[in-house]
Parts: sequence; C-alpha cells; structure tokens
Amino acid sequence: MTVPIARVAIAAPLHSLFDYLIPAHGDVPVGARVRVSFGRTRAIGVVTAIVGESGCPVDRLKPIEAVLDREPLLQSHDLDFLTWVAGYYHHPVGEVIATALPLRLRKAEVALAPGGTGWRLTALGLVRLGALPARAPRQAEVLAWLGGRPDAEASLAELRAALPDNAAAIRALRDKGWIEQTTLDARADRMTVAPEGLQLNDEQADALASLQTDLGGFSVSLLDGVTGSGKTEVYLQLAAAVLEAGHSVLVLVPEISLTPQLLQRFRERLGATVRVMHSGLSDSEREQTWHRLRLGLSQVLLGTRSSIFTPIRGLGLVLVDEEHDPSFKQMEGFRYSARDLAIVRAQRAGCPVVLGSATPSLETLRNAQAGRYRHLRLDRRAGGALSPAVDLLDIRDQPLQSGMSQLLLDRVSAALAQGAQVILFLNRRGYSPVLSCFSCGWLSDCPRCDARQTLHKSSGLLWCHHCGAQRRVPLTCPDCGAEDLHPLGQGTEQLEDFLAQHFAEYPLIRVDRDATARKGSLDRLLDRLHKADAALLVGTQMLAKGHHFPRVTLVGVLDADGGLYSADFRATERMAQLLVQVAGRAGRGDRPGRVLIQTRYPDHPLLQTLVRKGYRAFAQQALLERQAASMPPYSHQALLRADATRLESAQAFLDQVAGWARQQDVAGVELWGPVPAPMARRAGRHRVHLLIQADRRDALHGLLQQLPAHAADMPTAKRVRWSLDVDPLDLY
Ligand code: ADP
Ligand code: ZN
Ligand code: ZN
Repeated sequence: MTVPIARVAIAAPLHSLFDYLIPAHGDVPVGARVRVSFGRTRAIGVVTAIVGESGCPVDRLKPIEAVLDREPLLQSHDLDFLTWVAGYYHHPVGEVIATALPLRLRKAEVALAPGGTGWRLTALGLVRLGALPARAPRQAEVLAWLGGRPDAEASLAELRAALPDNAAAIRALRDKGWIEQTTLDARADRMTVAPEGLQLNDEQADALASLQTDLGGFSVSLLDGVTGSGKTEVYLQLAAAVLEAGHSVLVLVPEISLTPQLLQRFRERLGATVRVMHSGLSDSEREQTWHRLRLGLSQVLLGTRSSIFTPIRGLGLVLVDEEHDPSFKQMEGFRYSARDLAIVRAQRAGCPVVLGSATPSLETLRNAQAGRYRHLRLDRRAGGALSPAVDLLDIRDQPLQSGMSQLLLDRVSAALAQGAQVILFLNRRGYSPVLSCFSCGWLSDCPRCDARQTLHKSSGLLWCHHCGAQRRVPLTCPDCGAEDLHPLGQGTEQLEDFLAQHFAEYPLIRVDRDATARKGSLDRLLDRLHKADAALLVGTQMLAKGHHFPRVTLVGVLDADGGLYSADFRATERMAQLLVQVAGRAGRGDRPGRVLIQTRYPDHPLLQTLVRKGYRAFAQQALLERQAASMPPYSHQALLRADATRLESAQAFLDQVAGWARQQDVAGVELWGPVPAPMARRAGRHRVHLLIQADRRDALHGLLQQLPAHAADMPTAKRVRWSLDVDPLDLY
C-alpha cells in the first residue's frame, strides 16, 4: 500500500525537497503553503508534488502540521519554471520558490483577499455630491472623484494613486459619515485600451508587423532602436494587441522610480489594468498586485527584476525595456538575471519576448547576429528630432576647475545664454572621492574595505560607498595633526557648488542618489526643470535613464576615462552604454543636441569608434576583442566567491574546491584562481574568488551540478561565507 506523501520546498540552504505525510482527512493542493516541523524548528513550505513513495522510510516521515492555503498560490507551470531556475543557478529550490512569494506569504500569514479594503460614498455622501463643500477643497475633490467611480467606490491603492496626500480629507469625510470603509469584491480591472496610438513611421510599422506575426508562439526579438526612435510606442501597440486577444503582459524595467514617464504612458494607453511592482510599495500593496496578476484580475504588470517570478494568468507577451541595464541582475544572495529568465519564461509560456534597447548588451547582440534572436532596428528618431553630434575634448594639458575645462565652460555659457538647458554628467556622487593630507600623504581609507571613503561635504561625513562605514570629517589630519586636508578629485556635490557660483543666475538641479533620497523629490526636481527656461542639470547615471529633457541641447561628460582601463572586462561596454544613454537625453525636441566628452585618452580605439561611428560599430569591435580573448559572450562563466575574517580561510576553502574541480577534469572547463577579488577586503572581510569558464554551457553546468554539494561538505567551508554566481556581471 502506498501512502500519499507531499514533497515540500522549504527556504533553507539545502538543495533538496522534503517529504511529509499527508494527514488522513487533509486536502493538500500542490502549490499551496504548509506548516511543517523542520529540524528543531517549524518552517513554511510550498507543496511541489504529491508522490506515492519517498526516499525516506515512511515511518520516519513527519506529518504536515497545517495546510495554509485552500487554493494553490502557484500553478504547476509556475513551480516547473522555478524548479528550472533553481537548477540553472544551482541555488536551493526552496529559496527560489520563496523568492516568488510576497513577503507576508513567506511567513504563516493568511493570503490577502485580492479585493481588499476601500472607501465608498454613503447615502449621505451621495447627496453631498450635488453640493460639494466649498470651504474644504480637498474633501470636495475626494467626494467628486469617488462619485465618478463605478459604484462610487475605490480601493485604497487606487485612491492613493489618483489623489495622493488625502489622508486628512478622508478622515474628515469619514467623521462626517459621507464615506465608509468597505470590502471590495475581487473584480477584474475594466479594459480601457485607448483605440489608437500615434501613426507609426515605416520602421516602427515594420517592427510592429513582425512582432505581431509572432503572437501566439515563442520567439525572441531584439528591438534595437536609438534613443527616441519610438520603441515605447511599438511596445504599447503590441501590448494593446495582446490585451485585445485576452492575454496578459509582463513589462520588466530597470528602476521604476526612474521611469515615471514610461508608467504614465502605459497607464494612459492601457488603462487601470496596468499594475506596478517595486520596492517603494508596502508589502500588502505588492501582495494585492501579485494576487491580481495571478488570478487574471489585472493584466499588465510593470515591474523591476523580481517581477519575473510573479505568477501571471494567460501570459501572452514579455517586454524587457533597457535590456542592457545591469540592474536586471541580482547582485547578492540568489543571483539571477531577470533579462535572461524573461526568455525562459516566455518560452515556457509559449509567447514572444521583446528585448528593447538603444545600446543592446553584447550578449544579446551576439545572439541576434547568430540568428537566435530576431533583430529589429529603428535607426531614426521618431517625431523628427535630430541625433546629437558627439565630440571628444582632449583635456590632457588643460587646467580644470572642479573637473571642467575652459572650453566646456565656454560652451555651457553660450548654451545658457541662448536659453537652452545643459546636462553635466559625472558618475560620482559626493564632494570628492578622497580626502588627503598634503603634509604627510594620509588618505581617507575606509577602515573596513580596500577603498577610500568619499567626502560628503554637506553632511560633514566621510562615507564608504561599498560598506556604508561613516565618520565625521576630521578638521586636522588623523595621522600628523596638520591642518592640511584637501579634497582630491570631484563628485557631483562639488561640481554643483562650483557651477552655482559660476552660473549664479541660472537654476541648477542636481540629480543623484543623495539629492533625491526623499520620496518624490526627483519628480519635484524634474518638475522645476520642465517649468524653467535656461537651466543646468548635474547628475550621475540616474540622469541617463528614462527621462526626456526636450530642452537640453548640450550634454557635457566630465570624465569618460574610468571605464577605459579597468580590471573589469565589461567596463568599456558599460561606459559606452552610459555615454550613449546620456547623449540620448539631448536634442529630443526641435533643437539638435551636442555632446562633449572630456577625456585624457582621445586616441583610445574603442572610444574613437564610439564617437565617430556610433554604438553599433563600437559593439562590433568590442565583440571581436571578446572573441579573441575567449571572453563572454564567446564563453560562459561562473564565479565562486568566498569571504572570511581571515584571508587564509577563504583561500584554503577555494583551494580545496579548485582541487576537487580539477580532479573532475571536465573537458572544456578552465579554472582561474583562486585569487583575491579586485576589492580584496570589504566590510572587514577578506574576499577571494575562483573563476570557472567554459566554451560550452553544458560543460560548465556539468561541473556546477556537483559543486555546491561538494563545497558545502568541505571541512574548510565552516569558516567562510561562499556563493556561486552563474553568468556573473561583475567580478568584484
Ligand atoms: P524610445 O522608447 O525609443 O526612446 P519613444 O517611444 O519614447 O522612444 O519616442 C520618443 C518620442 O517620439 C516620444 O515623444 C514619442 O511620443 C514620439 N514618437 C514616437 N513614435 C512616434 C511617431 N510614430 N510619430 C510621432 N511621434 C512619435
Ligand atoms: Zn597628515
Ligand atoms: Zn568600506
């Protein structure tokens, strides 16, 4: 006789699933959560299968203690996808499945009803609609808005989205008895696809036509279009077609807070069914959205990388905007690439995936060139704007003021005098990257990292951007006591100071993580800019993303050299993408733009190609270099990282793993190291890594298959923290 056994995924650093007995009268749906005893504690897990027999003797199995969901939260195809993902990244399957659940559901909490709570007008409130309170405009606004809704009600989230900052008005209305709290039914969003978009130009129309023929089956397309060529318009029209056919759409974007304009365009065109998922929402808001997509009540999800794991009913299209963006890769813990997984997810759902970018990653370009992806190109800017002219400014013998050469300063003056807006790009926040004593040579080293602490003048801090360690700026040298401390190099804070003096008569806005730390402050800054005429905009890579600045005609790049001679082989690719993205902010309106790039290496061949011939030519040349060096995308890598309080512990562990790996002698696999990481000490821990590289993915995975289990068993593993990064994006 076989007993039914539930196979359960539990979030633990173990690669196996765990078997439990199903209680006699219990109904245990696959995809539901259960509570079980696990070692000496209790754990929440997800049932992945019901099986007839176990590898363990049945009398040793423990029963499930409680079933937490009556309906499955994950369908079997969701579980299959997550299991595949765990296999690919060699990451514990229980942890991968937990990643797919909203935070509350990783604990024993009851799943939220997707309808949720909301507000509705009372009978009294309906009467007041005819005579809105004139002296309380906020309250009148809420009343009128609710009155215009179907059944005069709305969810908390909808209300907040439509009328932010209305909490006081809501309280007042409730106290008057004009509105009341209510539980909303789980209703599907009404579809309000705006019938027509813009009249597409020929390139856009061709791209859309090819993409539309793909609907209904799996395919991968690269939408390779220069900034402003109308990629978003193509996404919107394609998404509208998918919605009209009754399917859902997943849109992955790098960082939502940086792309409010994209969200707004999706909402305007596709209506309320567009939901967002990002870290700025509360846990319950995110969970509501998760349920709505899972149940098919909402049909478009626009979200950051973790949205790739959201279960979506009837998925019919996956869009990845700015596919080259490194933020699609999770850099700690479970290190997945949402861009790469988008392809697997679409394949499993049997639907198309579109990767869009003005600066496609070399991986994606290579796949397109090898014929694995369809390559669609948009070479012209839509709406008639001209592409900017780009020039290099040789600053080798130039005196610089806060990083600006005289020529760049003159150009900025001229542009401002003509009433234009100017962007100055410097990808380093803070006042200066290091503080130094000119008497003894002391430098502001971070006590915990092989890095310097950045000077942040306005907050009076020395601050390490790697581990977060802070201290007050010393007045005298900590070593020799001299009053001879000076900032070396410049960051955006210093540039802002300098420009504020030099161009005192013009509005000046700084955009970086420090300046926009408060919620909504970026929107306010950009609002100011849209209202201004001539103005200066100073910022880091936050400027390069998503925003349109139609009145910017000059972009100055203060320092392009950081990426040219870096230890990281991807640094030039990053630099090129960033330069092109920043340049793309200029001249989007009716005035042509100009880009000036300061450099000490004006003859660098890749920089030359980028500036003279553009990103595509650059990418071609960079791909040749990668091929000659057998680097990705011409080979496949995994990085085994280890860190420990003592360097020897980390080294010994990786020596042992490397020894084991060499013994396996897998054909086509090379081992590099172990060697100290480029930043050998970080947050007080010593870091060593072992790079594993192979020409063929199956050879690499053949070795990786066994690696985590063996590594965990090494006697040296106890003193280290280690992690495996498949397809690493940086070697730090
Ligand atoms: P991308 O996503 O490639 O950067 P967008 O879709 O944002 O480009 O388009 C850039 C600008 O051109 C936007 O202001 C957009 O409204 C406009 N635009 C796009 N397609 C067209 C078109 N077919 N006709 C006129 N304007 C267009
Ligand atoms: Zn000193
Ligand atoms: Zn540090």
